Amino acid sequence: DRSQIVNFGPGPSALPDAVLDEAAKGLLNYQGTGIGITELSHRSKEFGALVKRLESSIREQLNVPSSHSILFTQGGGSGQFSAVVLNLLARHRLLYPDLSNDDRVMDYVVTGSWSKKALEEAKRLGGGRVNVVVDGRQSSKDGKSFDNIPSYDRWSISPNPAFIYYCENETVDGVQFSSDPTSHQAFPHHLIHNPSTTCLVADFSSSFMSRPIPYLANHALIYAGAQKNIGPSGLTILIIRQDLLVDTDAAAKLGANPVPYTMAYKTLSDNNSLYNTPPMFSIYVAALVLEQLKAKGSLQYLEKVNREKAGLLYATLQEGERRGIVKIKVKEGSRSWMNVTFEILGGTEKEFLEGAEQRGFRQLKGHRSVGGIRVSLYNAITLEQVQRLAEYLHEFYESV
Ligand code: PMP
Repeated sequence: DRSQIVNFGPGPSALPDAVLDEAAKGLLNYQGTGIGITELSHRSKEFGALVKRLESSIREQLNVPSSHSILFTQGGGSGQFSAVVLNLLARHRLLYPDLSNDDRVMDYVVTGSWSKKALEEAKRLGGGRVNVVVDGRQSSKDGKSFDNIPSYDRWSISPNPAFIYYCENETVDGVQFSSDPTSHQAFPHHLIHNPSTTCLVADFSSSFMSRPIPYLANHALIYAGAQKNIGPSGLTILIIRQDLLVDTDAAAKLGANPVPYTMAYKTLSDNNSLYNTPPMFSIYVAALVLEQLKAKGSLQYLEKVNREKAGLLYATLQEGERRGIVKIKVKEGSRSWMNVTFEILGGTEKEFLEGAEQRGFRQLKGHRSVGGIRVSLYNAITLEQVQRLAEYLHEFYESV
């Protein structure tokens, strides 16, 4: 029975029951049309209105400035690892046609598994030179894990990069920026605020819509897969400054890599995110999730709840640390609100997971690449559910 289960999965992850109940109705009969949402035409007026609804929910709740467009696409976060490189190098080519590829620098801030993957894709695609701004493993406790956001004095941003890339929340490792990265001098002001010189790009896949982003306007592009806080997989959301919508075919004529149309930001924009058939059900559920969120009081409300959830869990784990039973993986100051990672030292991981399973807690096993335990606290997880997990942790501490 669903009501007995708490799904702490890292994504795809829990969605609110009320939204799923509503979505189930729309799957059979969307707004009295007698046709389900996945059976309508994506060119119908009903679906066009739904896309607009989702867009305006995001624009309103995140306070997206008019300089930025909101686009919907597919291919997930991984698709954007490629699309960012292709589109932004095309833009750079149009601005500076005569530079050699070695002078088209892509700056990557590597703080975890996902930014590392994005970096590898940039190297693979070529067309420019990759610079690692900083690698979190070098300032980690063991010299090889991602467990911190390195202090800014370690960062080396290139003088004029084609773009600077970072991942706001590293889902696998549980490493998150605790404050506005763009406020620091590591991001020279002229790079952030002069769109003709450079672009700041951020992967927000696992923290999008979990709290306000007051510094959003400093970014040229923020993107996120939907399958954590917002809806089913299949939908990828882009918030993109309009000067990034460049003619990639014209860039290709000047020697840039050609960009597949399904990935070209200008093509998506010119067609109002309907260049080809979009993930209709994912868009529908995402719209319902954000409307429910608005009814509850929006992102300020969520920030408060999410802060409380993470605060309670970390405090409980710190107590376990003092007793030598658990170990939080990530250094203080870089700990994610969304993905809490730790190791079991007293008793065994197997015992911990079995006890959790008996109590209805699901998907607590850490990512296969790093092991340990990972608790994902996306928006659909309630404070009460985290309290239940904290109670279990206390019981576990007593039992070992
Ligand atoms: N970036 C981050 C931060 C992620 O958490 C994920 C997926 N967990 C990805 C990128 C890759 O997303 P996708 O599976 O949608 O390609």
